[in-house]
Amino acid sequence: MSRQVPLNLRDLDLPAMAAALGGYGVDAAKATRVFAAVHRDGVARVDGLDWLSAPIRRALAADAVFPDLEIVERRRAADGFVKYLLHLPDGGRIEAVRIPLPDPDDARDLKRRRQRGEAAGLVALPTAKYTLCISSQLGCALACDFCATGRLRPAGGVRNLAVWEMLAQVRAMRAEADHPVCGVLFLGMGEPLLNYDNVIRTAQILSHPAGPAIAGESISLSTVGVAPAIRRFAAERHRFRLIISLAAATGEARLPLMPAEGRWPLAEIMVAVREYAAVCRSRVTFAYVGISGVNMGREDARKLVELLAGLRAKVTLIDVNDDSGRYHPPTDDEVRGFRDELLAHHIPVSRRYAGGREIGAACGTLAATRAGGAVF
Ligand code: SF4
Repeated sequence: MSRQVPLNLRDLDLPAMAAALGGYGVDAAKATRVFAAVHRDGVARVDGLDWLSAPIRRALAADAVFPDLEIVERRRAADGFVKYLLHLPDGGRIEAVRIPLPDPDDARDLKRRRQRGEAAGLVALPTAKYTLCISSQLGCALACDFCATGRLRPAGGVRNLAVWEMLAQVRAMRAEADHPVCGVLFLGMGEPLLNYDNVIRTAQILSHPAGPAIAGESISLSTVGVAPAIRRFAAERHRFRLIISLAAATGEARLPLMPAEGRWPLAEIMVAVREYAAVCRSRVTFAYVGISGVNMGREDARKLVELLAGLRAKVTLIDVNDDSGRYHPPTDDEVRGFRDELLAHHIPVSRRYAGGREIGAACGTLAATRAGGAVF
């Protein structure tokens, strides 16, 4: 038996792998072992599957391929963030970021000490684990006004990444991680819900007990609000989490910052989010990109409170990182006023640490740049 199209084992979830391998005489139990070898152990040759019979291995070796992405560069920031620049087979370049996280007990203890005024705001804690931020598209067509990825113009146009191209980012960073990898964020280049099928399949492989076995609840998809895909996500009842990215609480204020508002208006997004909230076991996370003098006034916060009324929601404030210099992060006073307004209405709010700034690894800065930090 020989195929016209190579059999890319790195692109297959378990049902697809069992179906493909069935044609070579591999039973379901052995197909699960192949799945684990490929996706958990990183096997890259049919020779490594030495528990398959010799005739099956010979037939598979003629057809199977194990493509990989080339790591062009790694840059480490002083705060431990590491940005990977990776080369795609068609010449495009994408980025992924390894984010260090402390032990949760250490983080809680630091929070308590800060509340008592016994510790400075930012005390570096030892790394205990990592979460990985990966790209889902080459470039992004949604062109948010504050985002470097949205300003990229890939030579062949924006395109969706294949399942294996997303898994390859995780595999590359996992292979070099000196602590466990406990989560994955689809928060890098691209809008994951515009690459819905591939992103969900990638998340399913990553969370499969026979695969990398990353907890489904620790896999998050960050979206600007592709309303029909949010409704589909809710109906399919995935364990993965959605993060809804806002930059304003009204459509009018949002449109100049996020042109996608013209396609999926905030009102429509919120109807979809309420469907998701009804099946989500925890609070729905809203990421709010804070821009000084633009969207961080008390009135902006009050509008956000109105938008989230009746929802079990929490808000993560993200300082804008605009390398064009037009937008600036909020001042401490703006953050305090905004946060107080939300807390007064019992909406939990936190401020995301923007790590890896000097290597262009912070949210909104992924643009395949090569500056800063230490190359290794
Ligand atoms: S913020 Fe996200 S959706 Fe907007 S342009 Fe950047 S990558 Fe695309």
